[in-house]
Amino acid sequence: MHPCLSCGACCAHYRVSFHWSEADPAFGGTVPAALTETMDPHRLAMRGTWARRPRCIALEAEIGVRSRCTIHPQRPSVCREVAASWEAGQPSPQCDKARTAHGLPALTPEDWLGRVTS
Ligand code: SF4
Ligand code: SF4
Repeated sequence: MHPCLSCGACCAHYRVSFHWSEADPAFGGTVPAALTETMDPHRLAMRGTWARRPRCIALEAEIGVRSRCTIHPQRPSVCREVAASWEAGQPSPQCDKARTAHGLPALTPEDWLGRVTS
């Protein structure tokens, strides 16, 4: 199983903000606007992530056990850019920091052994 499917830590650690056009279909945006809130004139945030204890409204998870992004194909660009540590052969500080904050060990290269990559 992909390690992210039993994690979800990054979706419950960071403020997830992005340009408003990502939620405007007229500009090719795909993020459901109802799941966002306005941060400033230029940026939206995923609801729930602009909080003292962030947790994205689109996250369906028990952190460290099972995790699913309910808008995965429509998720913001910033979510697509977070790499899981060692998936591409190098550590990811964002991944490690989020997992550590949730009491999970950072991923290692061994976590990817035996997985069939495409
Ligand atoms: S913290 Fe890392 S392993 Fe966990 S869901 Fe995010 S990218 Fe995946
Ligand atoms: S939109 Fe999906 S991938 Fe992005 S923070 Fe929310 S649950 Fe995670």
